[in-house]
Amino acid sequence: MITDNSKSLFQTASKYIPGGVNSPVRAFKSVGGDPIFIKKAKGAYMYDEDGNKYIDYIASWGPMILGHAWEPVVKAIQDKVADSTSFGAPTEMEIDLARLICESIPNVERVRMVNSGTEATMSAIRLARGYTGKDKFIKFAGCYHGHGDAFLIQAGSGAVTLGHPSSPGVTVGTAKDTLLAEYNDLESVKKVVDANKGEIAALIIEPIPGNMGCILPEPGFIEGLRQICTEEGIILIFDEVMSGFRMGFGGAQEALGVEADLVTYGKVIGAGMPVGAYAGKADIMEYVAPNGPVYQAGTLSGNPIAMVAGYTLLKHLKENPQIYTELAEKCEAIHVGLEKALKETSLPWTINRRGSMISLHFTNEPVRDFASSAKGANDYFKQFFHGMLKRGVYLPPSAYESWFLCNALTYADIEKTLEAAKETFAEMG
Ligand code: PMP
Repeated sequence: MITDNSKSLFQTASKYIPGGVNSPVRAFKSVGGDPIFIKKAKGAYMYDEDGNKYIDYIASWGPMILGHAWEPVVKAIQDKVADSTSFGAPTEMEIDLARLICESIPNVERVRMVNSGTEATMSAIRLARGYTGKDKFIKFAGCYHGHGDAFLIQAGSGAVTLGHPSSPGVTVGTAKDTLLAEYNDLESVKKVVDANKGEIAALIIEPIPGNMGCILPEPGFIEGLRQICTEEGIILIFDEVMSGFRMGFGGAQEALGVEADLVTYGKVIGAGMPVGAYAGKADIMEYVAPNGPVYQAGTLSGNPIAMVAGYTLLKHLKENPQIYTELAEKCEAIHVGLEKALKETSLPWTINRRGSMISLHFTNEPVRDFASSAKGANDYFKQFFHGMLKRGVYLPPSAYESWFLCNALTYADIEKTLEAAKETFAEMG
């Protein structure tokens, strides 16, 4: 595979952009080698600057659930863009998207649009603190909630990949209000709650995490969190930036049958445009400015192009729930195929899957939290990633990231992927 153009672009990019990239995980630091520069994408395929074609299992880290350049979204954007790219004033399109969400998600009565998942989680925590009058919050080791200061404490994903579990620049004062618990471990939560009685504003969690690879909540865990939060007056925040509108239209709340007090969205909600949102019941959401005292704002929030893109995609997903069944079936086919191939090797492996998220961890231990996920971030993963890439399969370049399927993926693509995996496993060691 020739990647000369990508290499040369990376050299040039590195002169002007820190590390040559605008988001760290794109730099391939944890798997080695130079990043691939993408020129265009359509459906399940991405094409790089050297003309190589890849089956894409990143889907822009989640948003492209129906595949790239899905025509109705492209057309909706084209139809709107000539009317101006931003007004900084209210538009009808914002109502359409907000109404669609409020009418579909039982515990969502108000939704505030922002520009990224990071903004959504930062705002949700501020709101929870303002609403309860308390400062501390609980997060889980290995869960990533964007790069807001208070979240960069044992965050998963890129923050771990680069070996900065917490980042310089985050003050000790900020970090002291972030309390840590272990995923799938209710006892660890109870301990933290008991040690900080009456001082905790919120508990934030990726209900179905994708930032330590895909991890599944064990029976009773999420229900137990709901109960603790209700008993202790703690605002339960589900960070559904990955799982929202992906695990099903109702996200993890619907999939797990547990309702949070606040929910954050990103990725699918904007169809690839920069959109995030936080949402919940009216009493708490109306605590935000301009009606309430908690300040939060955004020059480009509710951007008309982003809103029309998100609305077009979400409306289609809502009206076509079979898409989620199809995605889950495709994901299962990958799971079954990988399992079959791996059984013929001596490699250690564990596969976790839910809906259209899946990850392969190179460890024989069950992967159920951050510590067990870290065991799979090893040399095997790097070999696997590069073996797949050179065979035209583009996987997330980090063992701490879930794969995201898009429904444009065909069974022929899956067969090719499994063939590439078989060949790659055979050369690993
Ligand atoms: N929360 C979760 C669960 C995420 O996966 C991410 C991004 N991967 C974020 C928040 C931050 O979103 P963004 O990158 O849009 O700021």
